[in-house]
Amino acid sequence: MNTYVEPAKELPVYGEYDVIVAGGGTAGMIAGIASARAGARTLVVERLGSLGGQLGGFMNTAWTFGDQVHQVVKGIPYEYFKRVEEIGGVENPDYAKDAYILYDSERAKYVITQMFEEEKNLEVLYLTMVADVIKEGNKVTGIIMENKSGRQVAWGKQFVDCTGDSDLLEFAGAEFELLSKERLHPVSLIAKMGGVDVEKVREYYAARPELWKGEKYLGGLPHAGIYNYRLHEELEGIELPEELEYLRDWFILFYSTPNPGEMVLNMTGEIAIDGTDAKDLSRAEHTSRIRLYQAMEVFNKYIPGFEKAYISATAPAVGVRESRKVVGDIKLTADIIMNATKFPDAVCSYQAPLGYHIPDGKDIEFRRMEPGTAYDIPLRCMLPKAIDGVIVAGRNIAVETDAIGSPRSISNCMSMGQGAGVAAALAAQKGVEIRQLPYKELREELEKQNVYFARS
Ligand SMILES: Cc1cc2nc3c(=O)[nH]c(=O)nc-3n(C[C@H](O)[C@H](O)[C@H](O)COP(=O)(O)OP(=O)(O)OC[C@H]3O[C@@H](n4cnc5c(N)ncnc54)[C@H](O)[C@@H]3O)c2cc1C
Repeated sequence: MNTYVEPAKELPVYGEYDVIVAGGGTAGMIAGIASARAGARTLVVERLGSLGGQLGGFMNTAWTFGDQVHQVVKGIPYEYFKRVEEIGGVENPDYAKDAYILYDSERAKYVITQMFEEEKNLEVLYLTMVADVIKEGNKVTGIIMENKSGRQVAWGKQFVDCTGDSDLLEFAGAEFELLSKERLHPVSLIAKMGGVDVEKVREYYAARPELWKGEKYLGGLPHAGIYNYRLHEELEGIELPEELEYLRDWFILFYSTPNPGEMVLNMTGEIAIDGTDAKDLSRAEHTSRIRLYQAMEVFNKYIPGFEKAYISATAPAVGVRESRKVVGDIKLTADIIMNATKFPDAVCSYQAPLGYHIPDGKDIEFRRMEPGTAYDIPLRCMLPKAIDGVIVAGRNIAVETDAIGSPRSISNCMSMGQGAGVAAALAAQKGVEIRQLPYKELREELEKQNVYFARS
């Protein structure tokens, strides 16, 4: 690629903060609240016009808050979901046992906006990209932001990288892992379908339990409103036009929401996409939209209850399941998770099955954990090697590709956000690095904020 040397410019300073959170998505919005509640003056910088990231991008299904016996995700994520539930935004509020919590993403975005309004010490700047960092030696001391007003600087004592893609870490020159795109989980543009006769869909599947592949995918976990993962059996014996034939064996998950006549379509949009490459992302947006309409055609013609259904909305951007992950002192593996491993520097405990989206876009492999068990998320898989002033939270922690499906779940990203927000706030207030914080103090503040820790 040709290059051009950008001339140096004097930039205005937007402000000075104790903690700056890059990305106000699933993890970042909770990190912001947790940091502010721990007493730090906090700024959240978000590239979109709303908080919520993938959680607000029409997801509507948050993997379990429980370990199949007890509730394990508590703290701010639970307080948040209870408020969404109170205004009718949760379909199945069994936070201990249900495999998925089905929620309405619009109510979810409204409630998080309210929570930000209520929090003193907390500001958000929407429609703004974190575009670079400023460092003193190995320590990040500021960010350069880019938005309608041009480029500005914000100074901070600690930073939380919740961009999903570790953008801030990349600008800081931190070591990260990015698999070759052929090995990455596929991406999906989530869509909402309106005009669905949900009762008819329910009756169709209730009368044909042999179609339900939940045993394979959920290991028999209780579910509400999830209809199926692939349409192979449903389409048996049906001749499809050649361009739609691939959909027979494609990953297509659909489920109901708390809203009447509405379902969400979560299907593979494109494969072999590097979520940090603008050209790849652009291709993914394009192809996913075509695939969604192709799938809709199949639903309309062949699946009872969808005759009059239509795509009512698509997410603000294609959803990336995996991209740059931090290199920390510990990397989560499938064994660590399946063995419900505990760590002395835990920021939260969690359980969800290992859901591995096979890179060819056609299927998922699930491994379910034992009921009543949970693993810890250690601080050490959130702290980048050789860089100070930054902690990550969200799908960009240090984790193997075949294990990421569990910790990247919405409920756990929120919990990790809470852990990172508190750690950054305490370090900023004490004028130390997170690594130097006495764990006891971090744990005390997290327990004060109602975070649950599983005992060994
Ligand atoms: C298609 C798809 C389906 C999924 N299905 C489920 C499911 O059913 N259940 C479940 O529990 N989990 C599911 N997941 C996983 C889960 O939704 C995500 O792993 C989780 O939401 C990621 O949270 P995060 O905070 O790391 O990232 P996000 O929620 O994506 O947040 C990142 C935020 O950073 C912002 N941002 C990015 N770059 C910058 C920048 N440079 N400057 C400023 N802001 C920036 C983004 O706009 C975004 O708001 C799914 C994921 C995908 C992609």
